[in-house]
Amino acid sequence: MPDYRTVRGMRDFLPEKAETMKYIEGKARKVAQLYGYREIITPVLETYKLLAAKTGEEIRKRMYTFKDLGGRKVALRPEFTASVARLVANTLKAEPKPLRLFCVGSLYRYDEPQQGRFREFWQSNYELMGATQPEADVETVMLTNRFLKDVGLKNFTFKMGHVGILTGILSQEGIEEDVQNKVMHFMDKKQVNKALKLVEDTEATEKCLKTLRKLVETQEENPLKACQKIKKEARGYKKAVKAVNNLQKILKLLSESEEKIEITVDPAFARGLEYYTGIIFEVYVPQLDIALGGGGRYNKLIETFGGEPTPAIGVAHGIDRIMLAMQKQKTPLKKEKKKTAAVIPIQDKMKEEALKISQMLRNAGIPAKLQVMDRNLTNSLADANRREIDYAIIVGERELKEESVAIRNLKKREQKTVKIDNIVKTIKNKE
Ligand code: AMP
Repeated sequence: MPDYRTVRGMRDFLPEKAETMKYIEGKARKVAQLYGYREIITPVLETYKLLAAKTGEEIRKRMYTFKDLGGRKVALRPEFTASVARLVANTLKAEPKPLRLFCVGSLYRYDEPQQGRFREFWQSNYELMGATQPEADVETVMLTNRFLKDVGLKNFTFKMGHVGILTGILSQEGIEEDVQNKVMHFMDKKQVNKALKLVEDTEATEKCLKTLRKLVETQEENPLKACQKIKKEARGYKKAVKAVNNLQKILKLLSESEEKIEITVDPAFARGLEYYTGIIFEVYVPQLDIALGGGGRYNKLIETFGGEPTPAIGVAHGIDRIMLAMQKQKTPLKKEKKKTAAVIPIQDKMKEEALKISQMLRNAGIPAKLQVMDRNLTNSLADANRREIDYAIIVGERELKEESVAIRNLKKREQKTVKIDNIVKTIKNKE
C-alpha cells in the first residue's frame, strides 16, 4: 500500500479544530460587518509577478512558486494585500472612497514549521483604501482590539512603530531604497548589529549611526512620552520627525477612545513586508512570543500596480495563532448549544417513518442523525450516547400505531411516549 500522508507543513483540521477555526472566522466576519468592510473572495493562485512585486525579500523567497501547464509563472498567495491592491488598481478603480474590504482564507509560505508557524495558515484581512487621516489608522487598531475581545482573549498588547522614522533618517543620509529595505529586513529579524553594519558601509554620517543606536535603545512605557523621546533623538531628520508626529496623533486618538488599549512604542520596529509607508503594528498575548496579527499603512502600493495614487491601511490576523492563544488562555467557545436527536427505526418497515421524522426535526432546526447502520436498539442507543446526542427518537411498531414514538432523554435516562406532532415541541421546550 502506498503511504499517503499530508505534505510537510500542511495540516488536516478535525471537527473540533475546524469548528474553532470557523468560530473565529465568524467573529472576524462579524467585526467586518460592524465596521462596514464588505467581503471579497480572491484567488489562492496569482501571478508570481504580482505577489513578488512589493512583498519583501523574506516572504518572496518563501513563496510556493511554479509554472502552470500553460507555462505561466504563478504562486500561491502568501498574503492578501497584493490581491486586494490589484483589484483596487483595476476593477474597483472607480469605486467611491474610502473603500473598506474584508477577506478571509488560506495563505501559503514555505516557513520552517514550528509552534504557530505553518506553511498553510488562515488570516482575516481588512483593508481601508483612500484615506490618509489618522482616524483610518486608528480604525484598524480598534477593530483588531474588538475582534480579539470578541473571541474572548485577554491581556493582549499592541506594539507600534512607524517605518517613516527609520526610512526618514536613512533617506536623508542618501541611502538607496534597496539598502534601506535590507536594513529594515535585519531590523525586522532583530539583527540590529547587521542592520547597523549595513548603514556603516554606506556614506552615512556618525550622527546617523548614533541616532539609530539611540533609537534601538529607547525604552519608555508611556506611548506618548516615548514619542517625545524619539522626536528628540531624531532631531534634524525632518521626515523622521514628521513620522513621529503622525504616530503621536494616532496614539493620542487611541488614548482618547473609550477602549483601554495597551500599546508600547518601538521606534526600531520593522515588519517583513516592504510596502509599508506609515504606522506599523503587531498584537501579542503574554502566552506566545509570536504576533497574533499585524498591519500598517501603505500609501504607494496601488500606484505600483498601475492604479491611481491611493493611500491605504490594512491589518491581517492569524486565525491559527488566535486559536493557539485561545488554547493557552483556556478561552471557552461561546457557542449556541442546540439539542440534538438520533432517530432510530426498530424494524425495516419503520425506516420510511423514521426518515420523515428526521426531516421534520431538521425543518424545525433540530439537528437529527438517522440511524443508517441497521443496528439494533441497544447498539443504536450506545452509539447515540457515545456521540453525546441529547434525545433518541425510537420509532417502534406499537407506538406508531398510535401515531407516537418513544423519546428517550439520553442524559437523564428517562423515556416517554409522545405523539409525532408533539416531538418538536417536547425537544424545544427542553432547550
Ligand atoms: P503578515 O501577513 O506577515 O503581516 O502576518 C500577519 C499575521 O498572520 C501574523 O501576525 C500571524 O498571526 C499570521 N501569520 C503569518 N505567517 C504565518 C505562518 N507562517 N503561520 C501562521 N500564521 C502566520
